[in-house]
Amino acid sequence: MRVSVFGATGSIGESTFDLLTRRDDIETVVLTGGRNVTRLAEQARALRAGLAVTAHDDCYRALKDALAGSGVEVAAGTQALVDAAERPTDWVMSAIVGAAGLAPGFRALAQGATLALANKESLVTAGPLLMAEAARHGARILPVDSEHSAVFQALAGEDIAAVERVIITASGGPFRNWTRDQLEQATLAQAQTHPNWSMGQRITIDSASLFNKALELIETREYFGFDPDQIEAVVHPQSIVHALVGFRDGALMAHLGAPDMRHAIGYALNWPDRAALPVARLDLAQLGTLHFEPPDPERFPALRLAREVMEIRGHAGAAFNAAKEVALDAFIDGRLRFADMARLVERTIDHLSAQSCLADPVVALETVEAMDHMARDRARSLAAGMA
Ligand code: NDP
Repeated sequence: MRVSVFGATGSIGESTFDLLTRRDDIETVVLTGGRNVTRLAEQARALRAGLAVTAHDDCYRALKDALAGSGVEVAAGTQALVDAAERPTDWVMSAIVGAAGLAPGFRALAQGATLALANKESLVTAGPLLMAEAARHGARILPVDSEHSAVFQALAGEDIAAVERVIITASGGPFRNWTRDQLEQATLAQAQTHPNWSMGQRITIDSASLFNKALELIETREYFGFDPDQIEAVVHPQSIVHALVGFRDGALMAHLGAPDMRHAIGYALNWPDRAALPVARLDLAQLGTLHFEPPDPERFPALRLAREVMEIRGHAGAAFNAAKEVALDAFIDGRLRFADMARLVERTIDHLSAQSCLADPVVALETVEAMDHMARDRARSLAAGMA
């Protein structure tokens, strides 16, 4: 089986690497990373990759030196990264963080490769386009986000028309019980500590603000095609139940598993088979109880904003994600307070709604990129005023 991993040096990339190293039937075509060229080179040597790509031109020399004598081809830059997605392969892990992950995944679909999609931003920003591209080339997209993998698994063999509702769970993050006043003061150190999952910095902070859940609500809508009012989020602090699917006969099918991304990645890697995976087995008696509670869109406005985005659809997802990425950068850099991230995203969406281009249907990657740029520009100038 030929595989490529985009975002190999990240949290999802490392979990994917771990699973790939346990198999002896893998031919690694491409591995990509960003600034962590030392790790990218180690992975490329270990998996005897055909090509290693860093997204940054200024990292080329360091990667080339680190792979000297290995026989691994080296390239650098965003265009090289997108071009690498054209190399024939059977399975592609899309695990770059942010909107930067969209273009390589899109190109991989044109090769007819199976796209294991961790990069939720792809569906949020360009869902209809991505799904259409997969259909056009007979390619398959398999969800890797744990909630969406769980829904996908609960739907296996079911008639999608019999689905009444889908419930995705949220841990609630480190600020689950914080008051609004406390949330105003939340620090970066507090926001980047997740109670259950070990993930990259950006998704960890998005989990604390529930922007991650907001993205996942939109992702659910785009991948499975359910109406927004069929999609719910429930807070489940233990992160054991990842999602539930409710059918018209009242049955609720839940997917349970230890919080380890190697489950969802391994499922996508082995699909349609189920292979043994090195993940912890649950001891339900030891767990004792599973706790659920409603989310609070007042303290966590990201959830309310996601509903607006799902209603507007069109380019609203691209604008939402771009504004969220700008807000996150500003919070990480200390230019914006935690609770101001949602205010910034809301103001950006409001501004762009007034210009009416937001609801235009997504027809090409170019229009998605144009909206992304427009929303980033707007969000940056708004952020400067809020700092
Ligand atoms: P990380 O930040 O850990 O890793 C991101 C990867 O993308 C790294 O390989 C990084 O390279 C690379 N990268 C960063 N910026 C760019 C860029 N501009 N162009 C190209 N490559 C870049 O992220 P995660 O692994 O946590 O998340 C990856 C994706 O998967 C996200 O979309 C996230 O929402 C999603 N996801 C993650 C989960 C998790 O458990 N982590 C769970 C479900 C979904 P380098 O580090 O070398 O600079």
